[in-house]
Amino acid sequence: MMDVIVIGCGAAGLAAMRKLHDAGLKVLGLEAADRIGGRVCSVEFGDKFIDIGAAWCHGDQDNEVFELANPLGLLGRSEPLNTFYLLSDGELVAADKAEQILTALDDEVAKADKYNSRTISECVRQAEHTNEILKKDPKLSRSFVEFYERDNHLGGQDDPKKGKSLRGVIEWWNSYKDVMLNWKGKGFKTILEILMNKYPDPTKEIPLQIHLNKEVDNIRWDTIHRGLDNPLVQVSCKDGSLYAAKSVIVTLSVGVLKERYANLFNPPLPVEKVKSIQNLEMCILDKIYIEFEKPWWPKSPANFPLLWRDEDKAKFSAGEKWVTEIFGLLSVDYHPNVLLAWIYGNGAVLMEKVSEEEVKAGVQKLIDTVLKKQFDVAPIKKIIRTQWAQNPLTRGTYAHRTALLEENGGSALILSEPLYRSNRFPVVCFAGEATSHHKHSAVHGAIESGFREAERLIESFQKL
Ligand SMILES: Cc1cc2nc3c(=O)[nH]c(=O)nc-3n(C[C@H](O)[C@H](O)[C@H](O)COP(=O)(O)OP(=O)(O)OC[C@H]3O[C@@H](n4cnc5c(N)ncnc54)[C@H](O)[C@@H]3O)c2cc1C
Repeated sequence: MMDVIVIGCGAAGLAAMRKLHDAGLKVLGLEAADRIGGRVCSVEFGDKFIDIGAAWCHGDQDNEVFELANPLGLLGRSEPLNTFYLLSDGELVAADKAEQILTALDDEVAKADKYNSRTISECVRQAEHTNEILKKDPKLSRSFVEFYERDNHLGGQDDPKKGKSLRGVIEWWNSYKDVMLNWKGKGFKTILEILMNKYPDPTKEIPLQIHLNKEVDNIRWDTIHRGLDNPLVQVSCKDGSLYAAKSVIVTLSVGVLKERYANLFNPPLPVEKVKSIQNLEMCILDKIYIEFEKPWWPKSPANFPLLWRDEDKAKFSAGEKWVTEIFGLLSVDYHPNVLLAWIYGNGAVLMEKVSEEEVKAGVQKLIDTVLKKQFDVAPIKKIIRTQWAQNPLTRGTYAHRTALLEENGGSALILSEPLYRSNRFPVVCFAGEATSHHKHSAVHGAIESGFREAERLIESFQKL
């Protein structure tokens, strides 16, 4: 029997496994996919890597990713962006005007009361009618508010109650300073290699025991193994295999938990935990990498926030509606010919449903209608798009607090509470980015949560 089974081998799972392994516990990872990493997924692109999921280490203070990678010299500093604010008719908005509007929106959020159940969207939409700077040019401000909602992943497009809450602003801690540290072309997968001790000497890699293609479909956590005082958890997988351990750590995303919690746990989860799962929301953010035959933008790193107006959206058919939800383009470090298009929310969901050919055609139309007025755009070579909402092992990008949660209860803290046996032994622990109290959404939050639960178990095992 294992001491601990870790369910899901993304950043949180691997972090937990590494710490448990170092403490001498017998640990096994069960991963449903045919690879480790989860939302960390670097794919080869030319002689380097691009990141389908997480790409940047967000900050260099109180950040587990930074603390692990920086001493090994694996992170690259970001350079100031050359930003071109582009209206959807192809005209540029003067940078000082654009920044004045964006600062006004940030200021409105900063000064808003956070101890209620209002969303950030509500706050910025209201500011359109009250803020003196925004009132000066209502049409332009509308485009900026829409951009702001997408760029900050505010959600709530279908149901405003599911939008990111103002309270979330204080619950989430920014790691500050350089929030766009890159991996020098080697991809975010480097963090997985660090966790497995492959750096600086690959021969020192720790042989973590991981079974791939093991989709866990049931966790039975009320059994007592005869002859042992220790509680025993039984884990069954879709392929019929069974595993047993004294404790498990569940690292599944909130998106996956929403779909599966009712059948996954036996006995069922306590009501407070269910509330957290129901009331936290997954944002949907997708990427479209566009490789051009040559770079055509004036200077890298380049950033093109896209500011849509209704009359320009009308140039796109119903089937192309998703294109008008692309809210920005960004050059990609170490890939001089590549731009990354960002797409959010309902637009991302629509984009995921069309074929790659249609995505390429849609991106081409975006370039023809918006970018060609100002820039001599080179032909597209290829595109790579992500489908994080459709992915049954993630069901979205990352978790955020909602108005619904502020009204009805739930939190990362509650989600992170273990399920105990009567002797106070934690039999089911919860890790994963959404359980990080102040760093949810990011890889450093995922790693922090994995370390947290490993430490909890190490302490509990010592007391046995
Ligand atoms: C597009 C995108 C961009 C991002 N950008 C950044 C960024 O720049 N910087 C940053 O810090 N963060 C970023 N993030 C967020 C970051 O990737 C996540 O917060 C982090 O990787 C989550 O790690 P995790 O271990 O909590 O979850 P996951 O990585 O989701 O790990 C959970 C694992 O569980 C597995 N699993 C699911 N169901 C089962 C099952 N039934 N049985 C067994 N295994 C199962 C999954 O396959 C997965 O491997 C981004 C995410 C996305 C999607």
